[in-house]
Amino acid sequence: MIIDKDLACKCCGALPEQGIYQKLLDGLNLMSQIIDFHIESGYRCAKHNASVGGVKNSSHRYGFAVDLHPIPDGTVSDLATATRGLFPREGLGVYDWGIHVDTIPWPRPGMWNECQKK
Ligand SMILES: [Zn+2]
Ligand SMILES: [Zn+2]
Repeated sequence: MIIDKDLACKCCGALPEQGIYQKLLDGLNLMSQIIDFHIESGYRCAKHNASVGGVKNSSHRYGFAVDLHPIPDGTVSDLATATRGLFPREGLGVYDWGIHVDTIPWPRPGMWNECQKK
Protein backbone atom coordinates (compact mmCIF):
# COMPACT_ATOMS: atom_id res chain seq x y z
CA MET A 1 0.00 0.00 0.00
CA ILE A 2 1.50 3.29 -1.09
CA ILE A 3 0.61 6.20 1.19
CA ASP A 4 1.43 9.91 1.47
CA LYS A 5 4.55 9.21 3.48
CA ASP A 6 6.06 7.21 0.62
CA LEU A 7 5.98 10.35 -1.53
CA ALA A 8 7.28 12.75 1.11
CA CYS A 9 10.20 15.04 0.29
CA LYS A 10 13.47 13.11 0.15
CA CYS A 11 15.42 15.85 1.90
CA CYS A 12 13.16 16.70 4.83
CA GLY A 13 10.15 14.37 4.87
CA ALA A 14 7.71 17.24 4.25
CA LEU A 15 4.36 16.80 2.51
CA PRO A 16 2.16 19.39 0.81
CA GLU A 17 -0.48 20.94 3.10
CA GLN A 18 -3.29 19.19 1.27
CA GLY A 19 -1.37 15.90 1.11
CA ILE A 20 -0.45 13.94 -1.99
CA TYR A 21 -3.17 14.10 -4.64
CA GLN A 22 -5.50 11.15 -4.04
CA LYS A 23 -5.76 10.29 -7.72
CA LEU A 24 -1.99 9.89 -7.87
CA LEU A 25 -1.93 7.62 -4.82
CA ASP A 26 -4.84 5.54 -6.12
CA GLY A 27 -3.16 5.08 -9.49
CA LEU A 28 0.15 4.11 -7.92
CA ASN A 29 -1.55 1.54 -5.72
CA LEU A 30 -3.24 -0.05 -8.73
CA MET A 31 0.04 0.02 -10.61
CA SER A 32 1.93 -1.65 -7.78
CA GLN A 33 -0.33 -4.67 -8.23
CA ILE A 34 0.92 -5.22 -11.77
CA ILE A 35 4.50 -3.97 -11.77
CA ASP A 36 7.32 -3.30 -9.29
CA PHE A 37 8.92 0.13 -9.31
CA HIS A 38 11.04 2.43 -7.21
CA ILE A 39 9.65 5.80 -6.12
CA GLU A 40 12.50 8.19 -6.79
CA SER A 41 10.81 11.52 -6.15
CA GLY A 42 7.32 12.55 -5.10
CA TYR A 43 6.68 15.80 -3.28
CA ARG A 44 9.62 18.22 -3.23
CA CYS A 45 10.00 21.16 -0.88
CA ALA A 46 11.26 24.37 -2.54
CA LYS A 47 14.83 23.72 -1.46
CA HIS A 48 14.94 20.14 -2.69
CA ASN A 49 13.23 21.05 -5.96
CA ALA A 50 15.88 23.68 -6.61
CA SER A 51 18.71 21.31 -5.70
CA VAL A 52 17.56 18.70 -8.22
CA GLY A 53 17.06 21.31 -10.94
CA GLY A 54 13.26 21.09 -11.03
CA VAL A 55 11.30 23.86 -12.76
CA LYS A 56 9.94 26.51 -10.39
CA ASN A 57 6.28 25.49 -10.50
CA SER A 58 6.94 21.80 -10.94
CA SER A 59 4.00 19.51 -10.18
CA HIS A 60 6.37 17.89 -7.70
CA ARG A 61 6.05 21.03 -5.57
CA TYR A 62 2.32 20.39 -5.02
CA GLY A 63 2.00 16.62 -4.68
CA PHE A 64 0.71 15.97 -8.19
CA ALA A 65 3.72 14.21 -9.66
CA VAL A 66 5.99 11.28 -9.04
CA ASP A 67 9.17 10.04 -10.70
CA LEU A 68 9.46 6.28 -10.92
CA HIS A 69 12.54 4.23 -11.66
CA PRO A 70 12.35 0.64 -12.88
CA ILE A 71 13.56 -2.04 -10.48
CA PRO A 72 16.87 -3.69 -11.51
CA ASP A 73 15.10 -6.41 -13.54
CA GLY A 74 12.56 -4.04 -15.04
CA THR A 75 12.60 -1.61 -17.95
CA VAL A 76 11.46 1.96 -18.47
CA SER A 77 9.26 0.85 -21.33
CA ASP A 78 7.38 -1.68 -19.15
CA LEU A 79 6.81 1.07 -16.59
CA ALA A 80 5.58 3.46 -19.25
CA THR A 81 3.16 0.85 -20.62
CA ALA A 82 1.70 0.15 -17.17
CA THR A 83 1.36 3.87 -16.51
CA ARG A 84 -0.44 4.56 -19.77
CA GLY A 85 -2.95 1.85 -18.90
CA LEU A 86 -3.70 3.22 -15.44
CA PHE A 87 -3.34 6.95 -15.99
CA PRO A 88 -4.76 7.23 -19.52
CA ARG A 89 -5.63 10.90 -19.27
CA GLU A 90 -2.68 12.05 -17.23
CA GLY A 91 0.75 13.22 -18.18
CA LEU A 92 3.61 10.88 -18.73
CA GLY A 93 7.21 11.85 -19.37
CA VAL A 94 9.48 9.01 -20.47
CA TYR A 95 13.21 9.38 -19.85
CA ASP A 96 16.32 7.22 -19.88
CA TRP A 97 16.22 6.93 -16.10
CA GLY A 98 12.49 6.26 -15.66
CA ILE A 99 9.16 8.07 -15.92
CA HIS A 100 7.47 11.22 -14.63
CA VAL A 101 3.75 10.72 -13.91
CA ASP A 102 1.81 13.95 -13.66
CA THR A 103 -1.77 14.14 -12.41
CA ILE A 104 -2.04 17.92 -12.06
CA PRO A 105 -5.69 18.78 -12.89
CA TRP A 106 -4.91 21.88 -14.90
CA PRO A 107 -2.60 20.87 -17.75
CA ARG A 108 -0.30 23.46 -19.18
CA PRO A 109 1.91 23.41 -22.25
CA GLY A 110 5.12 21.44 -21.94
CA MET A 111 4.32 20.10 -18.49
CA TRP A 112 4.99 16.50 -19.44
CA ASN A 113 8.55 17.38 -20.26
CA GLU A 114 9.33 19.36 -17.19
CA CYS A 115 11.49 16.75 -15.55
CA GLN A 116 15.14 17.25 -16.32
CA LYS A 117 16.68 14.76 -18.69
CA LYS A 118 19.48 13.28 -16.66
ZN1 LIG B 1 12.69 18.85 1.54
ZN1 LIG C 1 9.12 14.35 -12.27
